[in-house]
Amino acid sequence: MNTACQAAPGSHGLPRLVERAGLWMAANRGWITALQWCVVVIYFALLIIPACLPLPDGARHMTDSLTLIAQFVFWGIWWPGVILATMSVGRLWCGTLCPEGALTEWTSRFGRGLPVPRWLKWSGWPTVAFITTTLYGQLISVYEYPLPALLILGGSTAAAIVVGSIYGRGKRVWCRHLCPASGVFHLMSRMAPLYFKVDRSAWDNWLPVHIAGTRDLMLKPVDCAPLVDVRRMTSSGPCHACGRCAGHRDAVRLALRAPSAEILSATPASVTREEVLTLCLGLLGVATGAFHWSMSPWFVMAKQWAAQWLIEREWWWALSNDIPWFVLTHFPENNDVFSWLDGFMILAYIGATTVVVGGGTLATSAVAAWLSDGRPGRWKVQAITLLPLGGVSVIVGLSMTTVTLLRGEGFQLSWISVSRVVLLGGAGLWAASLALRQIRRGSAASWRRWLAAPFALAAPALVCSAWYIAFRVW
Ligand code: SF4
Repeated sequence: MNTACQAAPGSHGLPRLVERAGLWMAANRGWITALQWCVVVIYFALLIIPACLPLPDGARHMTDSLTLIAQFVFWGIWWPGVILATMSVGRLWCGTLCPEGALTEWTSRFGRGLPVPRWLKWSGWPTVAFITTTLYGQLISVYEYPLPALLILGGSTAAAIVVGSIYGRGKRVWCRHLCPASGVFHLMSRMAPLYFKVDRSAWDNWLPVHIAGTRDLMLKPVDCAPLVDVRRMTSSGPCHACGRCAGHRDAVRLALRAPSAEILSATPASVTREEVLTLCLGLLGVATGAFHWSMSPWFVMAKQWAAQWLIEREWWWALSNDIPWFVLTHFPENNDVFSWLDGFMILAYIGATTVVVGGGTLATSAVAAWLSDGRPGRWKVQAITLLPLGGVSVIVGLSMTTVTLLRGEGFQLSWISVSRVVLLGGAGLWAASLALRQIRRGSAASWRRWLAAPFALAAPALVCSAWYIAFRVW
């Protein structure tokens, strides 16, 4: 281990600076831990205090309402900011700032320390948890009100503490296997130009001579909280970028790479089915539907038609809205109450979007992969080329809340439409070029690869079309 916090000889300029930053993280755990606890305090304050206050009326602004500040911090800055940060610097949020990660790791140090059971290791939990919390969040209006935010975010934090107090010893079992955001962060970090690089041969060939005088320290295994097998780590997906392993055996360093590097080097074995489902069905399907339904005239038309249909049959119960806020949105003081019909229509609309956009991207990617390269598992490699669009789509969707809140504060933001076009267009072109590059690498005959190209391009076109309709047609 490079205990002197020095970069390896031979690196210069920016790579050297980056490497030194990683070594600094390894040598300054105390500062990172202090930072994490500061975030924990701020997080609890913004989560709990607004839930105890009356809802602000329409005349209130962020300057005189903690509730609006918390709403802006959580949904206007935090979520889009964390997605953007993870795409840029990997899961630095998880490893150095996340309050849930800090709490579950801390409780795990003093908990029962049980081994992780098999059912908990099921790789589908993050996908299921992400889709479930997204749907539930829409039903109870988590972006708008502090009580639903307390229920969903606080519930997740409580579960993280409980899991930490039962399983693992000082580890992040929750983050590794259950966190609803972990699947998304895993995907986003695959695009990050900053990552912890492991030199496997340096690790294996590391000689005892390097540890003269510090043998005890050097023989200590890496304390990797999210349980990553650091020696075999080839993807930045599971790495929380906490920096603890930087310099270990002179084989791990913070490094730079091209943002497309991990996508283009993907193989059927390195991409899991759950990752692709989270990307296509979760991010491009469910999340897109969740962002769209409230601005969609099609949603309103379908709901009116359904209401008429119910009235003709005198099924009044379906139109009743006397429902607790933790089942469906119920804030009469803000004239915001959902009926059973509202809840059903929201789920139906998001479900339809998931089938069309999510299912469409999955199907076109699968056909493109089958035509260009019939080997098993190629559909996963082809579908993962949609990652840039998955990330930007979520950032653009979440930024709608940011824009609404800032406009409420009097900001004009006239540049926002152009920015969205640039962001989505850029991500669409990036995804399209990645998709075509994978097609070109296919093992099938040239005519089959030519046939595959339109299908490969159809997937990013479908996602861009969905956003075009939302921002230009509606
Ligand atoms: S591999 Fe583990 S210890 Fe190393 S930076 Fe990533 S999360 Fe931290």
